[in-house]
Amino acid sequence: MITKFNDLECQQRRIRSQLEKNILAVLDHGKYIMGPEIEILEKQLADFTGVKNAISCASGTDALLLSLMAQGIGPGDIVFTSPFTFIATAEVIQLLGAVPVFVDIDPTTFNIDPGKLLKAISAITTGESSGHPLPQGLSKNCKPKAVIAVDLFGLPADYMAINRIAQDHNLFVIEDAAQSFGAEYQGKKACSLANVGCTSFFPAKPLGCYGDGGMCFTNDDEMAAVIESIRVHGKGTDKYDNIRIGINGRLDTIQAAVLLAKMSIFAEDIELRQQVARRYQKLFSGIDSLTIPQEPADCKSVWAQFSILARDTEQRDHIQKELNKMDIPTAIYYPKPLHQQKAFAHLGYQKGSFPASEDAAGRILSLPMHPYLEASQQELITESISLAI
Ligand SMILES: *Cc1c(COP(=O)(O)O)cnc(C)c1O
Repeated sequence: MITKFNDLECQQRRIRSQLEKNILAVLDHGKYIMGPEIEILEKQLADFTGVKNAISCASGTDALLLSLMAQGIGPGDIVFTSPFTFIATAEVIQLLGAVPVFVDIDPTTFNIDPGKLLKAISAITTGESSGHPLPQGLSKNCKPKAVIAVDLFGLPADYMAINRIAQDHNLFVIEDAAQSFGAEYQGKKACSLANVGCTSFFPAKPLGCYGDGGMCFTNDDEMAAVIESIRVHGKGTDKYDNIRIGINGRLDTIQAAVLLAKMSIFAEDIELRQQVARRYQKLFSGIDSLTIPQEPADCKSVWAQFSILARDTEQRDHIQKELNKMDIPTAIYYPKPLHQQKAFAHLGYQKGSFPASEDAAGRILSLPMHPYLEASQQELITESISLAI
């Protein structure tokens, strides 16, 4: 039996006829740009998340970019985010000429640590970087404007704490829910937990299409209207009336058609992911030298990844090599935190600036994880790991 890191083929077999029907419908009506499936999908996902407005777009990266642009983020604005995430989260901040200020993670959830966010804010207010590492040459004119919290591996960040801090300091909060669509926090769905929620439909995400795609969610009607305008070149009353600078950021109709088919089994997929995660947790319960991911009591993760921590880098690399020999695929998300990437070298952060992120990067290993992973495969994976350590 072949163990796959993510099994999109198996999922496709389940909904193949619906997929074909939906795609053929697009070929028949020919409305490839902003066809009827777009509005149907937006309505369906707005209902699913319990958010008033859902605006589809071309990728998760564009969802983040549209949200920042709609809030007017630009040069001189400080945006706080985690250094332990995919590059896109911080890339969009830099693209707009704003300053990414990294805030370390909580080592148990891998999500931004609200206590450290407070420290970062106070370091900026006092200009005293001894309390929290700040980018070099930060001008006094730079003002904190927003936070992008990331729901890493499908687990929502601590929005009660984050939103409270944001309210006290007048910060706009974006939820990077690229990995957490379908997850829950205190009974509320991911994408509904901040001023704007952004998700990605990249194929490997919990809800993926067959290309690139994304969506913004917000209860703020004015914000939704601005995002919608920026999505299509800053359109006003029509696309040849341009009232602001925007982008070409639409979702393709054919991808919306794929997503509508995927939504027919999405709730079931989430439950299966939960079962797979619980099975891993049980199988790992006798193995002491590894740290196994757990959900905080008020969260339901959608388990985009099942990421364990080895004792140290040497053990992690050894486990990966041994699993590789058994044809068991694994991945390292993320081997290098963003503050250590060349793209952000200009910020002047050092090794040691964000110890929890650096420690996680050195020890983390993501195991095969998808709704259709079988118990026997999971037993093989955990047995192979316990033999390797
Ligand atoms: C995938 C991802 C993105 C970007 O989504 P794309 O659709 O690939 O542009 C942003 N943030 C995080 C945390 C992601 O995992």
